[in-house]
Amino acid sequence: MKYKRILLKLSGESLMGDQEYGINGERLKEYASEIRSVVELGVEVAIVIGGGNIFRGLKGASEGMDRTQADHMGMLATVINGLALQSALEAEGVKTRLQSAIEMNKVAEPYIRRRATRHLEKGRVVIFGAGTGNPYFTTDTAATLRAIEVDADVILKGTRVDGVYTADPEKDESAVKYESISFKEVYEKGLNVMDMTAFTLSKENDLPIIVFDMNKEGNLLNLLKGEKVGTLVAN
Ligand code: UDP
Repeated sequence: MKYKRILLKLSGESLMGDQEYGINGERLKEYASEIRSVVELGVEVAIVIGGGNIFRGLKGASEGMDRTQADHMGMLATVINGLALQSALEAEGVKTRLQSAIEMNKVAEPYIRRRATRHLEKGRVVIFGAGTGNPYFTTDTAATLRAIEVDADVILKGTRVDGVYTADPEKDESAVKYESISFKEVYEKGLNVMDMTAFTLSKENDLPIIVFDMNKEGNLLNLLKGEKVGTLVAN
């Protein structure tokens, strides 16, 4: 396997499938089965999941809500998604733990780094909920932070697009995909990989990111087997 320990970042939106809102059971099942296939091969998997399918702090704030309050709602949304993913993974026979950055001990373990790494060593999938636990951050930043903390080899950012392109491929037909690109080039060209806080954190800590299409069956496994999947962003 190309990487021993990975941090998989899934957006909340990806859980919607073809719905406009919420969680699509089929999609959840597909993801759980993709994740199982790599856990079975001995890859240690940590996951950060977003909350955009339920609530985004920025949208709440744009409608007049207090931003911090709205971000708290967004973070709770990520815990809802984390619970759903945990349930789907366990239905596939995968051992999991959900750790929340906001303490809610009846629902999830608190985030404790040493405990998280111990779970990973034992082959349990660790899902990190509630982002960083702080308002004004994103789950991309949470993913980067946790990846660095648990010493993951790489962040795998699962999206609907199969990599980083010269322009938005959903809008521009002439857009070309990069097989790999440096952080510097992403920055200079103004390409969109992650928000700047997350991006800088990854760059400064020399943590590579692979952007890939999580909705294509077998992609996660193929990527870990060393096939050319997605775009590698590294120093
Ligand atoms: N959020 C936050 N702090 C964090 C991570 C997330 O306040 O560390 C809130 C923020 O309001 C955000 C929401 O949680 O809009 C959902 O996360 P995000 O938008 O990153 O989810 P995604 O776009 O990946 O679905």
